[in-house]
Amino acid sequence: PSPIHVIGGGLAGSEAAWQIANAGVPVILHEMRGVPGIKTDAHHTDGLAELVCSNSFRSDDWEYNAVGLLHAEMRALDSIIMSCGDANQVPAGGALAVDRDGFSQAVTAKLEAHPLVTIVREEIAGLPPEEWDNVIVATGPLTSPALADAILKTTGEESLSFFDAIAPIVHADSIDFDIAWRQSRYDKEGPGGDAAAYVNCPMDKAQYDAFIDALLEGPKAEFKDWENVPYFDGCLPIEVMAERGRETLRHGPMKPVGLTNPRNPTVKAHAIVQLRQDNALGTLFNLVGFQTKLKHGAQAETFRMIPGLQDAQFARLGGLHRNTFLNSPKLLDRQLRLKAMPRLRFAGQVTGVEGYVESAAMGLLTGRLAAAQALGRDLAPPPPETAMGALVEHITGGHLEGSKFQPMNINYGLLPPLEAPKVDEDGKRINPKDRGRARKRLMSIRGLAALKAWRDAA
Ligand code: FAD
Repeated sequence: PSPIHVIGGGLAGSEAAWQIANAGVPVILHEMRGVPGIKTDAHHTDGLAELVCSNSFRSDDWEYNAVGLLHAEMRALDSIIMSCGDANQVPAGGALAVDRDGFSQAVTAKLEAHPLVTIVREEIAGLPPEEWDNVIVATGPLTSPALADAILKTTGEESLSFFDAIAPIVHADSIDFDIAWRQSRYDKEGPGGDAAAYVNCPMDKAQYDAFIDALLEGPKAEFKDWENVPYFDGCLPIEVMAERGRETLRHGPMKPVGLTNPRNPTVKAHAIVQLRQDNALGTLFNLVGFQTKLKHGAQAETFRMIPGLQDAQFARLGGLHRNTFLNSPKLLDRQLRLKAMPRLRFAGQVTGVEGYVESAAMGLLTGRLAAAQALGRDLAPPPPETAMGALVEHITGGHLEGSKFQPMNINYGLLPPLEAPKVDEDGKRINPKDRGRARKRLMSIRGLAALKAWRDAA
């Protein structure tokens, strides 16, 4: 077969190139770092798969942590990122942390030594040449402007974001429905055509005042000089809104109008926090309008002050970062190809997954999909019970009409739900407080088995 071109030698591109070459298909990996005068704002070396910030791949506990499950799935698929991570591990408790230089050097050396891999140091500064008919674009959150502009021209306005504006997301089953209730403002239909699409959490005056104080006093994360995130209306951080006046939020995302608390219908709430369903499965809800630069530690504490969310488990905390990513649910097909130009497949952070491991996982998958195409074989992505399939579902399918697509880490809320078990494998009753944990384990076992079945059938 003719070679597959991979643009970007980061976490996703390196993994994609490895998978393609191991499938017996030649691959040309184009990486712009290493060309004199060309760099990104976050990378410091010319090495492939450079980790730009933390040196952690997060939890390695595959039974009880969704990112651990993703590790296990990737290991089962001969991932170069996982094997080089394992070989360069540094002590980090239950997490997999790596020596970043040793890790990047190992990935670079393995790819350089592979007979089917050619590494070219160059920037692809526009759409790839037309004769490249099987391309993976894995250029990451800091995709070079020339290529980003070309993608934008091909896909149209609003198809590519340059910043994320992330509101926290909670697991639906951690919301207290003895306090919260479901209703859309003025009972209008919300996303999905549901007149009770939103979850409402009421506050009285004292609760509201304490909450505003916490927002104002909480520690905020700083922007890096080069991030220079413009605040545009509609995605102001919630604490910036609070700084503009103590009543601003009560007239904005927390306005108490058009809603009636069924437990207290005659008393008007002073303010109401709304949550909106975030995935088609209905397992995740986001806090509407609550994008924030509060530090992560302070977020959980502050948002648990909201009545109904006192025990909230967060699938994702909020943030605001420079980040290049596609409106994937609209633009990509299930093969992660651009519908408007199917010779281009996308992988990594630019597809709207978040994190080193998730980015590498999408590189792994697109590498396999592109290689199958080159070999004339049909290959569907893994099923949604797997962590990898759940990520594909998040970026291409599971998103709800009408809500803005934002990047996401892997978490159990993206996988099809399972009933929490009441008894263990030996038939012994499980303590109610341990059932959530037992359910995670069942979801992990189900996921890894499904992944191996997918691998063996491919
Ligand atoms: P990258 O690893 O960035 O790889 C993209 C590659 O493409 C780069 O090597 C780049 O030089 C190259 N490239 C870009 N444009 C072109 C072009 N036109 N032609 C040729 N090559 C090109 N995730 C975490 O899990 N933990 C963290 O601590 C973390 N910190 C982050 C900090 C910052 C500042 C940023 C921006 C992101 C961070 N992320 C973190 C998120 C994300 O997981 C990483 O950015 C990850 O590296 C994404 O993998 P990727 O392969 O998609 O992109």
